[in-house]
Amino acid sequence: GRRGLYSGASGLQIAYLSGTEAQQEPAPAYSFSAKDVAELKMSLLSTPSFKGVDILLTSPWPWGAETFGNSAGEIDTKKCGSKLVSDLAASLKPRYHFAALEKAYYERLPYRNHTVLQESPQHVSRFIALAEVGNPGKKKYLYAFSIVPMSMMDPAELVKQPQDVTENPYRKLQKAAQKSRTPLPAEEEPASQFFFDLKKHQGKKRPSDGKERGNSQPKQARKPPQPTGPCWFCLASPEVEKHLVVSIGTHCYLALAKGGLLPDHVLILPIGHYQSVVDLSSDVVEEVIKYKSALKEFFKSKGKRYVLFERNYRSQHLQLQVVPLPLDQCTSEEIKESFIAQAEEQQIELLEIPEHTDITQVVQSGTPYFYVELDTGEKLFHRIRGRFPLHFGRSV
Ligand SMILES: [Zn+2]
Repeated sequence: GRRGLYSGASGLQIAYLSGTEAQQEPAPAYSFSAKDVAELKMSLLSTPSFKGVDILLTSPWPWGAETFGNSAGEIDTKKCGSKLVSDLAASLKPRYHFAALEKAYYERLPYRNHTVLQESPQHVSRFIALAEVGNPGKKKYLYAFSIVPMSMMDPAELVKQPQDVTENPYRKLQKAAQKSRTPLPAEEEPASQFFFDLKKHQGKKRPSDGKERGNSQPKQARKPPQPTGPCWFCLASPEVEKHLVVSIGTHCYLALAKGGLLPDHVLILPIGHYQSVVDLSSDVVEEVIKYKSALKEFFKSKGKRYVLFERNYRSQHLQLQVVPLPLDQCTSEEIKESFIAQAEEQQIELLEIPEHTDITQVVQSGTPYFYVELDTGEKLFHRIRGRFPLHFGRSV
């Protein structure tokens, strides 16, 4: 067929895409189309544990293969390469990708499948193009190698990075493709553009699978859930505006607010995808606390104090808004009062919760809420039932 996956008895997985990229629809028998690529991707990527395939075989070279790498000589992949093949290679993360259509030998330097400092290391990919069998120019047409299926490999061994590893040549292309599919976020409310079914989660505790924490048990580290659409705050996501990032920790990062209230309005965000403070695992919470105290110290040195708020409503990725205010212009008592007064005016019930009460004791995961924290540790909380003004925190 045009596409498929072959799994050997050894566990070796070989994916293939047959023919050339179709220039018209319907694709002729000797061609593949975007649909073939999408279906091949879907059949593999739908497996949650999918890490990549061992080998990918395609006829055309991928478009832009030499980007960040060594030159492909006389072959100009931007003329002959297939963007669909690049997209497939970027998603399937083959350890070896072979193509032969250009009748030339080219071995690209290995490239990474992860973003350094933002994602945990993954195995590298190697693109190798071979010439036609028995060609008179004696260009290389055989490639001998031994390979242990990735499913049999020690994870640490698998992700070892060779010294000559380069950046991923296809990321930019993927990013561009994603950008053209999704509209740019509005300045202030990117979250409102997510697919988000509020009713689905409201008031219900998420199903417990044993790994989830009970009320009395300490929170266990677990893999953050994946976003349902593109996320502008997952640090690994191509949507993140990296020029706004100020500091990156192990579990959290700090970014300037886009369209901030003040030039030093910052956000504390988890690197992985978490919806709210309530969903954070304990190691992430610990780092949030560290960031808070570092910011408190920092702003103090600038003659300021901060007020922090979170709106877990119509937002998909936790954003702790940290807004600094000059010490000589308001006391924390005054800040608190203005929140309470504004809330009263809009008939929002903003309750003070005891200082040493953790927010997870007040609200369950999945419940929408708005929450304010002062640098004194005082906390105000509103459980959102029905509608809530999205700009409430900002306007106060
Ligand atoms: Zn996210």
